[in-house]
Amino acid sequence: MNLFDLNGKTALVTGGNGGIGLGMARGLADAGARIAIAGRDKAKNAQALKQFPGGISLEADLRDDKACRAMVDEAAQRLGRLDILVNNAGMNVRKAPQDYSLEEWKLVLDTNLTSAFVAAQAAYPHLKRAGGGKIVNIGSMMSIFGASFVAPYGASKGGIVQLTRALACAWAKDNIQVNAVLPGWIDTAMTRRARSDIQGLNENVLRRTPAGRWGEAGDLAGIAVFLCSKASDFITGTAIPADGGYSVQG
Ligand code: NDP
Repeated sequence: MNLFDLNGKTALVTGGNGGIGLGMARGLADAGARIAIAGRDKAKNAQALKQFPGGISLEADLRDDKACRAMVDEAAQRLGRLDILVNNAGMNVRKAPQDYSLEEWKLVLDTNLTSAFVAAQAAYPHLKRAGGGKIVNIGSMMSIFGASFVAPYGASKGGIVQLTRALACAWAKDNIQVNAVLPGWIDTAMTRRARSDIQGLNENVLRRTPAGRWGEAGDLAGIAVFLCSKASDFITGTAIPADGGYSVQG
């Protein structure tokens, strides 16, 4: 038996049209899963979908809870079942804490944390119907560390870890494993913007990361396959860094 085989399984990856989500979706597809990717940008969805023969793409703004639930139901319906949900969609607004508007706070929390809760809630009956399943939530180094310019982002990513633990406890009896991945610094559209905005960021990341490089989206494929396959059936409620050693460097 291949513990990492995902043939016959289906996976919905939010934010799967680019960056880390696309890297994870490609890993799951390579392991045999049929893929649904979801994002707001139609052109990005269409471009990414070319990498997933037999897959589907869904347009949804996950800040809208109704659209978020509808996305999950549509994925399950069009793929015929739902075995895996990867809550990856996310964004950041960088400011000093005293400068955020309440709208900005809500924008980040709704996108990064509330959407993961709503999607998981919507996925639950589908995963149960499939006999169990896997949920992978994407945290961050900001799930562990603090930083001056990420108050809502850090709150959302800390929340992701606690949400993961709560869902893991509640749904273990249904054979649903829920885990979080905490990526280190990965080269994506999100961090490319930060790299040009924040002076010294590139040098800091290279100095602080024992692996001595930025991660690539493809670096997240392996952990996605592991946490979505039989190989991790007795692993639930964890938050696993995938960070080139960033979180253990003293
Ligand atoms: P990208 O900006 O490349 O990707 C973000 C993805 O989320 C896009 O596919 C985007 O699709 C989607 N998305 C954003 N907002 C919404 C929304 N309201 N509704 C639906 N989809 C949305 O960033 P990354 O790949 O870097 O980030 C992916 C995840 O990884 C995020 O949760 C991020 O916090 C996390 N992360 C990233 C790290 C890094 O170093 N890059 C480090 C740690 C964590 P679209 O634009 O089409 O809506």
